[in-house]
Amino acid sequence: MPEDSVRDRLHEDHFHDECGVVAICGHPEASNLAYLGLYQLQHRGQESAGICSSDGRTIYSHKSMGHVAEIFMPEVLGGLPGELAIGHTRYSTAGDTVLLNAQPFSVACNKGQIAVAHNGNITNAGELRRDLERDGSIFQASSDTEVILHLVARSRERTLAGALREAMLQLEGAFSLVFLASDRVIVARDPHGFRPLALGRLDRSDGQGTCFVFASETCAFDLIDATYVGDVEPGEMIIVGPEGMTRERYAPVRAHAQCVFEHVYFSRPDSIVFGRPVQQSREMLGRLLARECPVDADVVVPVPDSGVAAAIGYASEAGIPFRQALIRNHYVGRTFIEPSQAIRDFGVKLKLNPVRHLLEGKRVILVDDSIVRGTTSAKIVRMVRSAGAREVHVRISCPPTVSPCFYGVDTPCVAELIAANNSIEEIRRFMDADSLGYLSLEALREAVDDRGRDYCYACYTGEYPTELVNIEELMAAKDRRV
Ligand code: SF4
Repeated sequence: MPEDSVRDRLHEDHFHDECGVVAICGHPEASNLAYLGLYQLQHRGQESAGICSSDGRTIYSHKSMGHVAEIFMPEVLGGLPGELAIGHTRYSTAGDTVLLNAQPFSVACNKGQIAVAHNGNITNAGELRRDLERDGSIFQASSDTEVILHLVARSRERTLAGALREAMLQLEGAFSLVFLASDRVIVARDPHGFRPLALGRLDRSDGQGTCFVFASETCAFDLIDATYVGDVEPGEMIIVGPEGMTRERYAPVRAHAQCVFEHVYFSRPDSIVFGRPVQQSREMLGRLLARECPVDADVVVPVPDSGVAAAIGYASEAGIPFRQALIRNHYVGRTFIEPSQAIRDFGVKLKLNPVRHLLEGKRVILVDDSIVRGTTSAKIVRMVRSAGAREVHVRISCPPTVSPCFYGVDTPCVAELIAANNSIEEIRRFMDADSLGYLSLEALREAVDDRGRDYCYACYTGEYPTELVNIEELMAAKDRRV
């Protein structure tokens, strides 16, 4: 069984969010709008953030470690002029956690000044980088995104769009990209469509027409009053420049593999992702879980915040009262000084506190979205029991997580995934739950309405939707991050 560690105490036992991107095209307040968009996407990455803007001649850039609201003070935004802007908020899935790896990356090359921000993970970045270095490219950072800029800079294509097309056809894996040149924004999604990228429009307040906006999630549109139009399609590139907007398919059609975990956990419930409201999927996950794993109980309690929507669905399907009997402290930072006196389950107690009178003497169904290492879940079960619960039945709104992700999500290696190494009964015993139930893969498919087989489920099945010729190298990278 996994050992307790400082990391467990500091971080939630969850897969970690990836990154968020935004792009604003044709608005006098472009960098302000990019800032607001990033603010809404903060949940997708809390380590660093950056914005690049263009006034038609020059690209301006600012990036820093930390949260969006701390980085972009009015004087910083005042130094990012122009009607075009791209932005990024980062949680490192590839490359180290240092400012050098903060995005957007910008360079001056034979295509002019360009900047790029990326959500995803290029699975063949290692080989591409070695080839580029052999040919004389010098890398500043360890992030896979820099590879894209080098490929663009080396392309013999005359136009930026041509160079991007050529570069993207060499990439394998997951990428939702936003590029900025002095006079245009170009956005693209990988041919499998792993990560989301939504398109919206916004009427300019000065009556000077419509501005196009792009973001990882539509919750970014709501704050700036933009209207969701649809998604950048898998394998599609959209160019917004002086000639207006053009859309083209740059890559042959490939089997879609949209990340189902966006609906299970990552995306905000107020977003529409892959054309479907996330809240709707999550409540359906809970309903189907209640049908597949029923149990007699007095209350349904979510593990906040990730289990709330599924618990609402479970409770309403089962006809059992929903109670918010675990209260989350939203102000716990990533670091704190641990008291010298040992306190049992300290990290979990910092984050969650039980509402005793809702739990005392009750048979409790505890709903969460996933179990990764199992250590935090065990502590939560212990917490609920010590608050007086008579029985604790754990219900998980997705199947057991058995494989790591190589498409832009930070997951532990196989050795750390509890479900990869233990039966459901062994996990139940480890958590000391009275019963444990997971949703089936078929029900997960139903909850996201995957009639066209458009989703990736590799972390539940181990069946990766792309060929991973360098899987040992990718696995070793996961091991190093533990
Ligand atoms: Fe998403 Fe899992 Fe596929 Fe990664 S492996 S893209 S987390 S469904």
